[in-house]
Amino acid sequence: MNKHTFFSAGAALSLIASALSFAETPPDRYTIVRCGTLLASADQPARQRQTLVIKNDKVEAILDGFDPPALTSARGAGAAITEVDLSDKYVLPGLIDCHVHLTMEFDRELRMREFTESDPFVTLRAAVYARRDLDAGFTTVRDLGTGRPDVVFALRDAIQQGMLIGPRIVAAGHAISITGGHGDGTTGTRQQLVPIQRPEDGIADGPDECRKAVRFQIKIGADVIKVTATGGVLSVAKAGLAQQEFDDELAAIVATAHSLQRKVAAHAHGSDGINAAIRAGVDSIEHGTYLDDESIRLFKRSNCFHVPTLLATATVAANAEKPGFYLPQVNEKARQVAPHALEMFRKSHEAGIKIAFGTDTGVSPHGENAREFALMVKGGMTPLEAIRAATIVASELLGLEKEVGTLEPGKAGDLIAVSQDPTRDVTELERVQVVIRSGQVVKSPG
Ligand SMILES: [Zn+2]
Repeated sequence: MNKHTFFSAGAALSLIASALSFAETPPDRYTIVRCGTLLASADQPARQRQTLVIKNDKVEAILDGFDPPALTSARGAGAAITEVDLSDKYVLPGLIDCHVHLTMEFDRELRMREFTESDPFVTLRAAVYARRDLDAGFTTVRDLGTGRPDVVFALRDAIQQGMLIGPRIVAAGHAISITGGHGDGTTGTRQQLVPIQRPEDGIADGPDECRKAVRFQIKIGADVIKVTATGGVLSVAKAGLAQQEFDDELAAIVATAHSLQRKVAAHAHGSDGINAAIRAGVDSIEHGTYLDDESIRLFKRSNCFHVPTLLATATVAANAEKPGFYLPQVNEKARQVAPHALEMFRKSHEAGIKIAFGTDTGVSPHGENAREFALMVKGGMTPLEAIRAATIVASELLGLEKEVGTLEPGKAGDLIAVSQDPTRDVTELERVQVVIRSGQVVKSPG
């Protein structure tokens, strides 16, 4: 039973009074949401007929019933009040995708577009992609690597300052990669046409350059550090999926990031790279395709999260069947990883590893993020466990557990609504009807 459920009439009146008495400051904005069913936290049972009161951008109270007395006083006081009727809907906290790429959507022309698309164009398009993710119910996303860090930092800041509607963004800037490694986007291009990649571009060899690369990304605005610990499927390199960063490089990256209060997310497929990254102290393993018994043991001994990105694997497997969609060296890797994804997920889930929701959207189209849920359920999670991974667990990985992940007083007024119970059919989350972000209705039916 939630002790915050009670909201006294006196408190409501004083809130409204304070809103009215300072004419020079904008009046407080109330959003009153009547929820047919409310799953305020994936750790507590859903409740029927609940009224959620959002003051400005934060949850103020959750009340039993649709017309509690405190609300009557609030309505009569003439403050800025928006009432939202979701009495026939199932309401839950805004979803969190821990792995997206806002500056891209993969297609056959992606590599050529790197040479033709300007930063301003990519920025405008990233704003559209961010909005698609938000409309799909993802009120918080983590951008895990871009060739254009300034674009994502600017988008994050413009949204945060209320200039644009979009999800809350946690951004990595440039991924840290070895020369020619998974994060080196210039691999396979004519060297006369591209500048030599430096630590400032995320490309670093040896512990000293790794320290500089991490410090530079943080200097220009990174919230989190991404490292490509192993080869990757979509990089244009016939270099496999095994460990790329040496142990001393991983150690330098993690120590530098942690010393500046940033977490480290490690892209890793091969078990050698997964295990080296966890030993080095990274905070999450992204993908984790070939995790083995030693990985499980290391995960359990550490505080490391697993972000399985099943949608990315399913997407590359499907695209690998389209003739010419990927270059031959990419196609080979895409076919390799596909059969391992669900087995890897099942193993991780059954071992009780902390699994946070992430899709690698950008590999798949923006706005389809929720397709990950059905894959997680196929891999052995209950729908509620998958929802927990996309709310509570994801908020912990991002270090935002005091702000998002559940609906309770003091946390963000970020919520979504669907028509049917998603704990019965998780694909219902692919049909999000209403999105409220920081107390503002940003998507509604029609
Ligand atoms: Zn990725």
